[in-house]
Amino acid sequence: LDLHSNPAGAAPVALSYELFPPRSPAAAETLWTTIRELEATEPDYVSVTYGASGSNRDTAVDLINRLLLETTLRPLAHLTCVGNTPAELAEIIGELLDHGVRGILALRGDLPKGGSQPASGSLRYAQDLIELIRRVEQRRSALLCAGKIAVGVAAYPTRHPESPSVGHDVEVLLAKQRSGADFAITQVFFHANEYSDLVTRARRAGVTIPIIPGVMPLTSLRRLKRLGELAGVDPSVELVERLAAVDTEAECRRIGVAATVDLANAALDAGAPGIHLYTFNEHADALDVLDKLALPRPSRPAGRVNTMALRQEYA
Ligand code: FAD
Repeated sequence: LDLHSNPAGAAPVALSYELFPPRSPAAAETLWTTIRELEATEPDYVSVTYGASGSNRDTAVDLINRLLLETTLRPLAHLTCVGNTPAELAEIIGELLDHGVRGILALRGDLPKGGSQPASGSLRYAQDLIELIRRVEQRRSALLCAGKIAVGVAAYPTRHPESPSVGHDVEVLLAKQRSGADFAITQVFFHANEYSDLVTRARRAGVTIPIIPGVMPLTSLRRLKRLGELAGVDPSVELVERLAAVDTEAECRRIGVAATVDLANAALDAGAPGIHLYTFNEHADALDVLDKLALPRPSRPAGRVNTMALRQEYA
């Protein structure tokens, strides 16, 4: 019996992908192939990252606009608060809303190397950015007559590198919920229990918003190590050893996809309301994972009727 083979009546699971703005014309071409391939899987939304320094503002906004104008995809715009002043952020939020964006992932962004505090005059925490988004939204309530925008935030299955404890992380998540966050997407994690433990801690602390596992295809040893370093998350030693021991890329992908599917299935078993795939702007691994996951997805008859679990949050 395959519990994940979309049994009739299974609650639908939201599906989303992360993309980043391309850094060159060649990268843009690859990205658009990826976008078309992913679009065919009818995700609930695709998220578009934003550099912590704010330096890729134009390419991020361009990508979001093209997604809105040229595809059926709904963008979730990441926004970080360390690289822009509050006035600039209010302007960017207004611009995004004017273009039709109705979902923002509110983040602090990583501090510049060697810095332990955000630049003076900038917002300190993601929580401050959520409050700013809600203020801008209120000022534009006439435009947003179809409903409030969805605000997502980051959550951490393993301790955030600057945080004193996982307990503190959950307090911060609760604070972000109280400031107006509608849902959370997790940082990468490499052990199944890390997601379920986070959800248990968060629910005990009073966090009620959906917590969506962010899942990275575990197919590249180099990327696993690099992302582990960047995010301060240790990859599974066992997986690293298995990937290091194989000779061919095909074998590496086979092992990596299987490990990713196991991780995502464990999160679904723990009640995950969706899966957010970190694509690194490549579709092959994401689609392989999706194929083997066989998520319970709603059938969409005509038009863009969205019956996903997150529809209230991302309307
Ligand atoms: P915060 O929630 O503000 O937390 C930052 C630190 O401050 C934590 O240590 C927290 O414990 C502490 N803290 C927060 N609030 C309080 C408070 N009220 N009192 C005391 N301490 C507090 N980075 C990018 O640059 N661009 C992206 O597009 C991007 N996308 C991401 C997407 C996801 C799903 C995730 C999980 C991360 C992403 N990041 C991105 C990385 C993120 O910016 C970093 O992890 C950053 O270091 C923290 O961001 P945050 O929003 O969690 O910050």
